[in-house]
Amino acid sequence: MTACSTPRDPQNPAGAQSLLVTPGFVDAHIHPDKTTWGSGWLSRPPAQDLADLIGNDLKAQLSFEDAVEDRAYALMKHAVLTGTMAMRAHVDVGSQIGLKNIHGVRAAAERLASCLDVQIVAFPQFGLLTNPGTLDLMEAALSEGADLVGGIDPESVDGDLHGHLDAVFGLANRHGRDLDIHLHDEGPGGLAQLHVIAKRTMAEGMQGRVTIGHGFALCDVSQPELGPTLDAMAEAGIWMATCALGADPVPMLDLMERHGVKVVLGSDGVRDAWTPFGTGSMMDRAHLLGYRTGALTDTELERCFRIATTAGAELVGAEVVSGFSGTCSADRLEFAANSIPELVVDRPSPLRVVRGGRTLAL
Ligand SMILES: [Zn+2]
Repeated sequence: MTACSTPRDPQNPAGAQSLLVTPGFVDAHIHPDKTTWGSGWLSRPPAQDLADLIGNDLKAQLSFEDAVEDRAYALMKHAVLTGTMAMRAHVDVGSQIGLKNIHGVRAAAERLASCLDVQIVAFPQFGLLTNPGTLDLMEAALSEGADLVGGIDPESVDGDLHGHLDAVFGLANRHGRDLDIHLHDEGPGGLAQLHVIAKRTMAEGMQGRVTIGHGFALCDVSQPELGPTLDAMAEAGIWMATCALGADPVPMLDLMERHGVKVVLGSDGVRDAWTPFGTGSMMDRAHLLGYRTGALTDTELERCFRIATTAGAELVGAEVVSGFSGTCSADRLEFAANSIPELVVDRPSPLRVVRGGRTLAL
């Protein structure tokens, strides 16, 4: 991160006097197919648990009049303009919706190909083994636009830990793809599943190629099995994607670092049936991670920025971000700010988003 002298930006409330040049952001976990971004307001019914949220999500998706491609494009374009250069998009696959979400998000990604790198995870949001026909659709998705295999709470949603893992690891192996599994389950049950996933990752030779989304069980430091679980994940090179959402648990970043578990950051759902909140801006998300984890020191604030940029780039292989080389980099963000810690707290919009040496204007 390099700063150089520049005229003062009259729009900047903090009165910054320098131009701060940084690498682009990476959104490591977002759901562009579910969003209402660019569409009318969605009123959300109450939800008591995960099953309610999943049911509300399906009802909402079946009611949307705007096409997946249009909604996804609107959100992804906004993300680009706020500095996101790469993203991992979890996209629903299920017998109720077929592959239309995969096709829609892939089409939106193609329209933004010159300024956004997109990985698509085929995500069995409505169950895999419990939702007949979905496994075949997951397999088809991998040749129709999806890059990775997704999974969801093998026990609480799918009711069969080993059966679910057999299915998703089997798909990943047959097609040579990486895995990214949503795991909301908390407590000892969640940790036990993570142990099994870590063991399976090692057995399949997939070290470094498996990610756990949310991983709420990893956020409860009172659990005696937490340390050994983190060690097992580190040995298997399993990543953790957190989203620092509302009331959801967030990991203790010092602890994750001590055990060698790599953390990345994402938006998760943005203005969809799961939440009215979110903007798709990873600047906002880095701020929320700092706020939710009680960042105090400059080092802690800088870590949040690093997680939102270069850590995510390592996960998704985004050279457009990891290759950042300073003020003259062809791919860079420019902000009116004096330092990264100030940036994370003030969360200004970029003055310029530069891709391939040209300023983006979409
Ligand atoms: Zn998610």
